[in-house]
Amino acid sequence: MNPSCKIFLNLSILKEGEFVKKVELKCDRLNERGQGVGQYGRETFEIPNFLPKEVGIFSFDEDKKYQKFKLIKILKTSPMRTEVKCDVFNLCGGCQLLHMKYDDQIAFKQRIVEECFKKGKLPFKIDTIIPAKKQTAYRNKMQVAYKYREGKIVYGFYEEESHRIIHLNHCLVQSERQNEIVKYVQQIMQQLKLSPYNEDKRTGLIRFVLVREAHVTGEVMVIVVTNGDIFPSRSEFVKRLKDKFPYITTIIQNINNRKTSIILGEEERILFGKGYIEDYLLGIKFKISSKAFFQINPEQTEKLYQKVEEYASLTGTEVVVDAYSGVGTIGMVLAKKAKQVIGVESSKQAVSNASANAYENKIRNIKFYCHDATEFLKQMVKDNVGIDVLVMDPPRSGSTTEFLNAILSLKPQKVIYVSCDPTTLVRDLKVLEGAYKIENKTIVDMFVGTYHVECVTLMSRTKE
Ligand code: SAH
Repeated sequence: MNPSCKIFLNLSILKEGEFVKKVELKCDRLNERGQGVGQYGRETFEIPNFLPKEVGIFSFDEDKKYQKFKLIKILKTSPMRTEVKCDVFNLCGGCQLLHMKYDDQIAFKQRIVEECFKKGKLPFKIDTIIPAKKQTAYRNKMQVAYKYREGKIVYGFYEEESHRIIHLNHCLVQSERQNEIVKYVQQIMQQLKLSPYNEDKRTGLIRFVLVREAHVTGEVMVIVVTNGDIFPSRSEFVKRLKDKFPYITTIIQNINNRKTSIILGEEERILFGKGYIEDYLLGIKFKISSKAFFQINPEQTEKLYQKVEEYASLTGTEVVVDAYSGVGTIGMVLAKKAKQVIGVESSKQAVSNASANAYENKIRNIKFYCHDATEFLKQMVKDNVGIDVLVMDPPRSGSTTEFLNAILSLKPQKVIYVSCDPTTLVRDLKVLEGAYKIENKTIVDMFVGTYHVECVTLMSRTKE
């Protein structure tokens, strides 16, 4: 008997000398990361690429801690399902919802955020979610690592929480230009015999390539991250890249020889062009250097900032704080209708970019401070500074209780909270709940195909 023919449900079959169980599972619901959740005996499973009410056959490996269940075949398909056009879906971990129709992705995101608010006993109704027109090629930034695999140079993204590169041919959410540049770098490396970096031995030359693209001006920056200063055939590398893609406006060598998972090193050398690109958001020009934080979906970012503007509804008399201001984008958008804007941000480079951007755009009623946002707000309380509107856009981890308590002392009429993590958002809003009322909130779909959400919430003061 050929054991591999024995594919019966709930039967152990022999596979490479081991017994692997096959099971039929039904998906009950989705968790907050878009994975299908259900019950197998006493075990709750969470499986990617599995939709509610679907039934499928899975292999089951009891000994494995992660990925115990592997999909073999879907027996009953959900109407939410759509064809996935990506070769590395479920491997690279970048997009989790590509198997879901766009309308269902939006509904899923809305539900996840509403559930978070419900759990926190806060009003949960959301203003109409702002969908994205562009569902592919929406990112303005691509970063890939290069490695040797079986004697060949491969490139791609790191698998989630690992050091394994998932080889890539084409990424759906990146633009054609970004995809063709990183592919051509692989060819130039082969032609010029430039080796990719080996993490274990810490040898080899090229670690990463980053491409940043400006959606309005069309400028393109290529950053080559090298292990050390020496870059053999540097001018030939630059020439080939420029000849092939005349739209590239600047090329930078970034030196990173440290043993770290941080992509960019401190030191840089401009190999071609001006060393930065420029782009516009809502008519304001921004200089983007290699390390500057800039939202990755420019079209949706404009909608996000317009929403902040609408919620702020400034009349020209207000003092506004832009906390966690990055390169000053939100503050500058609001400055045209405010009396004065005060930006606070902890990254020196971002603050210097923000000040330069304000100067270039002739926005004079804004000032940026390089400080920890909490310490800065506490100082504002001590100095008794009067503010009318506070906008905050902290990282995923949210803000601090001290920052929120400082808001309660400063008593701005409005607080607008921009957040990329609804759990920390709700946690923070709870601190303000006694003195503020949630007026409105919405989601801007910045990250199509992924479970990530960007939320904007407007709170207004209820106490004198
Ligand atoms: N509002 C900007 C940037 C948001 S990203 C935009 O829309 O582009 C969050 C920013 O918070 C980052 O620029 C990060 O450097 C900054 N940040 C992180 N921790 C901080 C802290 N403790 N104090 C001040 N800024 C901080």
